[in-house]
Amino acid sequence: MQTLSVVLVEDEPGDAGLIRYGLKFSGGEHDVDWVTSLEALGTQLQAMTAAPDVILLDLNLLDSSGLDTISRCKAIATETPIVVLTGHDDMDFSLKALEAGAQDYLIKKGVEADALLRAMRYAMERHQLEQRLKESEERMTAAIEGGGLGIWEWNLKTDACYTNERLRKNVGFDAEDETAPQTLSAWMARTHPDDTDAVDEALKRHVKGEEKRYEIEYRLKHKQGHWVWVFESGHVVDRDSNGHPERMVGILQDISSRKEMEEQLRTLAMRDPLTGLFNRRSFMETMDSEYGRVKRHDDYHASILMLDIDHFKQVNDTYGHAAGDEILKHFARTISHTLRENDVFGRLGGEEFAILLPDTEREGSAYVAEKVRAAIAAMRVQAEGKAIRITTSVGMATLSANDKRPDGALARADAALYHAKQNGRNRVEQAESPTDASTAHA
Ligand code: GH3
Ligand code: MG
Ligand code: MG
Repeated sequence: MQTLSVVLVEDEPGDAGLIRYGLKFSGGEHDVDWVTSLEALGTQLQAMTAAPDVILLDLNLLDSSGLDTISRCKAIATETPIVVLTGHDDMDFSLKALEAGAQDYLIKKGVEADALLRAMRYAMERHQLEQRLKESEERMTAAIEGGGLGIWEWNLKTDACYTNERLRKNVGFDAEDETAPQTLSAWMARTHPDDTDAVDEALKRHVKGEEKRYEIEYRLKHKQGHWVWVFESGHVVDRDSNGHPERMVGILQDISSRKEMEEQLRTLAMRDPLTGLFNRRSFMETMDSEYGRVKRHDDYHASILMLDIDHFKQVNDTYGHAAGDEILKHFARTISHTLRENDVFGRLGGEEFAILLPDTEREGSAYVAEKVRAAIAAMRVQAEGKAIRITTSVGMATLSANDKRPDGALARADAALYHAKQNGRNRVEQAESPTDASTAHA
């Protein structure tokens, strides 16, 4: 066993003698330095090359008395665990000694060697744990401050919800702002209407024990009215004697900038870079959901237009590829202006485009198709010092519940487009409906 370095602070030579005698027979190896006052302790610690393992501290010294001695001793010897030596067997007093920062206490009268040793070893262990806890708390605090983490604690019985300053700041409440929510219900009232069910559900699943952690991303209303994306995570820390959850703690992090980046990435993935229109993939996704809607509702109709620029190869050959690109951009812009907000306009590839017209029957889509065709015929694009004119052919079809696949209408519109090309270009052709087509094939 390693030699313990002990400093004994005791002004009564008789008591000091007893303690030293006890230590001698405790079975361990000890280096004991004996001082009689706090001032002498300070001098002694400075003279030592390493901090002692433990300080045995009498509370009534020449230069200090009572519980005060503990805090003063701690101020001198910050690194060292303290075992208080008291003259009286008073539970209340002992507890106060621990609260004041001592790791343990011993009643001097009749102190036994092994009890003394045990107390010292225990004090050292406890001090070490306390140090580790303090360090980990400091690390945690640094992480919380640095990472902008909000902390919350929710009492399930009273609904009271404590939040730290950082959390409230994330949603626009100053430290002194008394209008900040104080209960979970009040916080719930600030969650985005589209997210409340998901938050509620996630909380319930965790509280019931179906999910190990409560974790969710949702939007909270900022004091100034806009929405803030947050990530929240937490778990139950206390349960009552019946096992019912009583207290939950967790963290909350502002993830707006990550969400914004995700949104930008999503937009990038959905859009055609040249024209800014939906790309083929995202257009097809919209087709899918619109097809689903047509299948579910008998009285719901939607149409699709397929467009292909006429003789575009010739345009490229005459004016160059860059002029061709410029025309494609103008084409997209001109048509966008003739469409409604709900219409979905996509570039399927090259100089092929498609327009999905939700909630539009054959008659309506024929009107839009003609408007689009005419707008392109009237368009002039300045390039290479010339006003270039182009035309487009259009094939149209209506989405049908009879289609086997979501892109069935697209194939029919494409066939109609082919007819438009064959019939002289710069014109609109209607596709046959799928039932007509199947009858025709039969
Ligand atoms: P039509 O459709 O009337 O039958 O004739 P077209 O000349 O348009 O026929 P085709 O579909 O064979 O040619 C399409 C041309 O479009 C080929 C290519 O030179 C041009 N094109 C495709 N994508 C782009 C693009 O991104 N930029 C430019 N500048 N040209 C493109
Ligand atoms: Mg083509
Ligand atoms: Mg073409």
